[in-house]
This record gives sequence, C-alpha cells and structure tokens, in this order.
Amino acid sequence: MTTMKTLRTFAALGLAGLMAMAAPASAEPAAKKLFSAKHEPAAGQPQSIGFYSKGCLAGAAQLPADGPAWQAMRLSRDRRYGHPVTVAFLEHLAARAKSAGIWRGLLVGDISQARGGPMAFGHSSHQVGLDADIWLQEMPADRLTAKEREDFPFRSVLKKGALTVDDRIWTSNYRDLIKLAAEEPQVQRIFVHPGIKKKLCETAGRDRAWLSKVRPYYGHHEHFHVRLFCQPGSENCKPQRAVGGGDGCSELGWWFNVALKPAPKPAKPAKPKPPLMLSGLPGQCRVVLNAPAGDPTAAMAAISAGGTGGLANSYAPAPARVPLPTPRPAR
Ligand SMILES: [Zn+2]
Repeated sequence: MTTMKTLRTFAALGLAGLMAMAAPASAEPAAKKLFSAKHEPAAGQPQSIGFYSKGCLAGAAQLPADGPAWQAMRLSRDRRYGHPVTVAFLEHLAARAKSAGIWRGLLVGDISQARGGPMAFGHSSHQVGLDADIWLQEMPADRLTAKEREDFPFRSVLKKGALTVDDRIWTSNYRDLIKLAAEEPQVQRIFVHPGIKKKLCETAGRDRAWLSKVRPYYGHHEHFHVRLFCQPGSENCKPQRAVGGGDGCSELGWWFNVALKPAPKPAKPAKPKPPLMLSGLPGQCRVVLNAPAGDPTAAMAAISAGGTGGLANSYAPAPARVPLPTPRPAR
C-alpha cells in the first residue's frame, strides 16, 4: 500500500519533481550565475536592496553607451545599469568635468548588472546599483568603436613596480576630477589606491574636507570607484558606516608598511570562499530576480520629471512607491 502510494506520488511529480527531491540544497546555482544571466531590469520603482556587496536592484536605468561627455567601456559586459540617481550622477559629473576644463569627458566602467546582484567576475560590490567605476584616463576625442572599448588598455597611473603615482602620467586634473566627485553630496565614499591617496594628500592644499571621502583600497589604480548613498525610496538599502571627519592622510602608513607589503607565501593555498547563494541575499532579491522586465528609460524619466535636471530630484520626497510583493520567508 505504502509502495503503491509512493509510486503514484512519483508518477505525479514526474522526472523534474523527482530530480528536485533528490537534489541537495547546495545544487542551487550560485547567485552570480542567476543575476549575470539577466539582461533586462526588474520592473518596479527604483530600489536598492541590501548592502553594496550583498544585494540587488529593481527598477534600474541604463547609462547610454555615449553621451556629450562620456563613453561607456567594455560594453559586452552589460553592466551599465544602476539606480537612476547613479546614472544621473555620472552624466552630471561628466558634464561638470568637461565644463570645468578638467577632461573633455569620462570613460565609464562597470556600474551594475540589469538586476544588480553578484557578478560572474570582477567585483564583490556593485550589487545595488550605487557603485560606479570611472577610468583614470581622459576620454579620447574620437568615439571609440565597440571593439576598441573592449580592447582599450586599462592603464595604471602608478610607476611600474612601485606603489606611488607616475608623475609622467599624473596631473592636477586627476586630483581635480576626484575632488569634484567627492564634493558631490550624493557620494558616500570613493575608493582609490593608497598611492593615489598619498598624492592627493600631498597636493590637496588647504581645502582638505573632501579627502575624508577618498578611501585607500587595494587595486583602484587604473580607475576610481564612486559609491553613492542609499537613495530615498529604498527602505531595504543597507547604508555603509559614515566616513570619519579627518582627511585620512595619517592612516596611510599602515597601507604602505603593512597592507601592501608582499605577504609570505602560505604553505597551503587558502580555500576559496563559497559563492553567495540566492538564499544568502535579502529575501526580496528572489522577487527581483523573477520579476517581469521593466523599462530602463521610464526609470530615468521618473527621476528627471521634476525638470531640474534630475539630480536635485533625488532629494525631493520619494514618490509613492509600488511595493514589491513580500517573498516567502526563506526556510
Ligand atoms: Zn568598482
């Protein structure tokens, strides 16, 4: 009797059901696999969900590949999506850099995937549409072809084999651009290589308040990374701790004397960290992943509808938002 019942149950489930029953929980694909397969934003109001390195994004806008003062790079990666405020910020910063005579334009690197989330390669953050990479190279006068945007060398501003900037490459324009970005009120912090921070500390002069947002970090010598604050309307966006008030220049010693010192080779290579699973992200990210496709142009229009050029609107009261359905609580 029991056997018959079991057989009937199996028959009803079919092969897929049987496989699902047999599959251990660990067979769920890594979240990076699920999110990197999405090439359209999730419908809904713009919302960053979770933390910069553990979250996702609904209602994304897309930075156009070309604008009056920018060119987006590595188009094949399809990581030009962000919170509409991030996209507006990049357009605004590019225009300001141009009008201030710093650079004719910016080369913009990765922002986020269409629905944010972990990426198959390259970043641990950039998951909630509030992080963007800007190359440390002036935009060329010519429009690059799509192929050139794939191949254009990602050039370091450091001296070869050293931890300090190459003064044959570095000019005050680099400093002025990073300062311009840091002084934007939407910017929470900026990551640069410690060698760049050192140069900024040495050349900032008396106006140093902006330096507090410029944080030394590994890498980041071919580009700098701008992180915006959680935006109004994103109740589930987890903010990062505020940067301190000082210029951070006296902390650089630790970077050069400890952090960047070549580490002795470990006897056994470290075990790689297991990848983030969907169940490890905020529950709403499952809803974002499965949501119908939204219109990235509409997402952008919603924030510029006020007619003041978009950016100012991010401080206006958030529009009444359509809540995302609550996901089933994870077991
Ligand atoms: Zn970055």
